[in-house]
Amino acid sequence: MDERHAVLDQFCGRRPSEVLAVILAAVVEREGALCAYCGVSGDAGGLIVDLALPRSRGGRAAWGNLLPTCYDCLREKGEQTPLEYVLFRFERILDEIRAAHRRCRLRQGPRRPGKTPQLP
Ligand SMILES: [Zn+2]
Repeated sequence: MDERHAVLDQFCGRRPSEVLAVILAAVVEREGALCAYCGVSGDAGGLIVDLALPRSRGGRAAWGNLLPTCYDCLREKGEQTPLEYVLFRFERILDEIRAAHRRCRLRQGPRRPGKTPQLP
């Protein structure tokens, strides 16, 4: 019996939720108990397996296409690829920084002439 059949034998007679738990445990063992996208710890059991490249984008339910993720990232990522989702998150962070900068400038009031540093 090859290794693949040995793995499949583990799933015989198990309920789907048990199969998912075994797969999640193996993915967490490989990747660590952190969400692959936001880094939140899954020590409290808040992780699930994500199909990194979604089926709608050509992804397959293959070992190399599985990542641990938290429920929030799984829901938000949707049909995006991992790169698209990371860029989406990055843009959101930039938007928050820009908004904080605008609020700060509003609190400070208009710039006074002569206070702006001049480049040589
Ligand atoms: Zn996450």
